[in-house]
Formats: sequence, C-alpha cells, structure tokens
Amino acid sequence: MSQNHKTHLSLEVFPPKKDEEFDNVYQLLREFGHLNPDFISCTYGAGGSRAGKTIEITSFIQKELNIDAIAHITCVGSTKEDLAKNCTALKDAGVSRVLALRGDRPQWMSDEQFNNREFYYATDLVRYLKEHSDLYISGACYPEKHFEAPTLEEDLRHLKEKVDAGVSSLISQMFFDNNYFYRFLDKARAMDINVPIHAGIMPITTAKQLGTTVSLSGSSVPKELADIIATYGEDKEDMRKAGIDYAVRQIRDLKEHGVDGIHIYSMNKIKTTTEICSII
Ligand code: FAD
Repeated sequence: MSQNHKTHLSLEVFPPKKDEEFDNVYQLLREFGHLNPDFISCTYGAGGSRAGKTIEITSFIQKELNIDAIAHITCVGSTKEDLAKNCTALKDAGVSRVLALRGDRPQWMSDEQFNNREFYYATDLVRYLKEHSDLYISGACYPEKHFEAPTLEEDLRHLKEKVDAGVSSLISQMFFDNNYFYRFLDKARAMDINVPIHAGIMPITTAKQLGTTVSLSGSSVPKELADIIATYGEDKEDMRKAGIDYAVRQIRDLKEHGVDGIHIYSMNKIKTTTEICSII
C-alpha cells in the first residue's frame, strides 16, 4: 500500500417514506455532511416509487452541501423513455453521478412484462447511460455473490461485463465477515476488474434489524455477530453499543488492508453513524 493511500468514506441514505418526515430530512443531511464523507448516495424505491425524492435529496447534497451525490436508479421496470426523462431530471437538478442498478422485480410486473422488459441487466442500463448521458456511473457488486447467480465466478464474469460497459466504481453489498470481501477482491482484481471498490458496512444495532437485513441481502452471519445478538439483543443500549463496536472493528480491519472505500449503510441513523465515524 502506498503512503498516499486514502480509504474513502461514503454514506448511504434513503428518502423518508412519508411526506411529513421529509421536512426533517434536510437537517439530517446537513448533519451527515458534517461527517465529511467523500460522497453520499441516496436509494431509489423499488419499482421507481418516490423516484423524484431521490433526485431532490441528491440535488440538495450536491448543491447545498457541496458533497458529491450519487443517485441510485433502477431499470427493471423502466422504458427507454422513462430513463430519458430521468436523465433530464438529474441534469436539471445538478446531479451528475448515479448508481446504475437493475433492481428487483416490482410486484406490479406481470410475467409477460417481466420477460419482455427493455433492460434485462444493469449492464444494459450502463450501456444506455453511456450512450445518452455524460453521467459518472457506479455499479453494485456482491462479495458473497448475487442471490440469482449460480456461482461467484459467474457473477464476477457478469460484473466484468458491467464494468467494461462503463462503470467507474463499485459499491458492495453489505457483509459481516471481511474474509468474504478479501476473497472477492482478489478474484475481481485477477479478472482485471480494476475500478475502486467500496466496501458496504451495515451497523447492526438491533436484533430485529439483523433478521431483516439478512433476508434482504443474503449476507452470512458469522458466529461472533450471532453471539452478540444472543448476548445483548434484549437490551437496547447495550445492543447498540455492541453493534457499533462490531462495525468499527470491521472497518478498522478493512482500512488496515488498504481497501478503496468504506460505504456505511446509515439507515438515516445520525447518532450511530456519527459515533462510528468519530472512532474509525
Ligand atoms: P445486475 O448487475 O444486473 O445483476 C443481477 C443478476 O444478474 C446477477 O446475478 C448477475 O450475475 C446476473 N447477470 C448480469 N448480467 C447477466 C447476463 N448477461 N446473463 C445472465 N445473468 C446476468 N435496489 C433498489 O431497488 N433500490 C436501490 O436504491 C438499491 N440500492 C442498492 C445499492 C447497493 C450498493 C446494492 C449492492 C444493491 C442495491 N439494490 C437496490 C438492490 C439491487 O437492485 C438488487 O440486488 C438487484 O437484484 C440486482 O441489481 P444489480 O444492479 O446488481 O443487477
């Protein structure tokens, strides 16, 4: 690792689900801004719901906080026309970076719609964006493989196609065992996937959150984390502290290994995120 190596720090936020919660989001974003992240990304509701909110939030981050903002966009339920409108809206809002995702099949999509969709994979979206915009494009990657991929090797082959189509950096799915990330990194580099890869870290601060997270992400849970839940799960504050401590140890180890970036899935929790950022 060179002496000049810097591990970047980035945060992920989501648009509040209810309109009445939206008024407070700008104060929250200001507080996240005080943590000096290299960029903040904002998620996109499955199926495009509340897409406008992602643009509003990323526009605020970019223009008011002067921090690089990445708007997540998905393509599974979109037409080329929808995407053209989205690109124009991003440009008008001053947002020049996106995380280009396929997304998961929305409930409203019939089998026929799904099988005849215009964009099959994130790579198709990347190709479209490369041709029709000058956006900076990030993509997603999966240290423990994407749940649909038969093997990690096959997932990596498709990741390589996605990167070659025009992805400039990758953000990883969350993982709780750094060994999966290091193994993934070695394989990706061996396949000439040479863009920066930001390691996704989700601080687990309640027992319930771990259950939801694991069922959504498919990430495996090491014994040490399962033991933490068993020991502290019933006590709110002790569990929060133990969860922060686990995430901090994961991050410190990743930094010692010289990873390109740490991407914290903040879940809009400013107190927990601030505590973590103050000691890593
Ligand atoms: P892809 O890169 O298209 O990969 C999906 C699957 O298809 C993989 O198994 C891959 O191996 C396979 N594949 C790719 N190309 C081919 C091919 N040519 N032939 C056969 N198989 C192929 N979802 C949201 O709805 N909103 C969000 O804001 C959001 N943010 C996310 C942020 C991060 C950092 C991550 C990791 C995920 C996020 N997701 C989000 C979830 C994501 O939409 C899902 O994981 C989705 O199932 C896959 O999206 P992708 O862009 O990784 O897909």
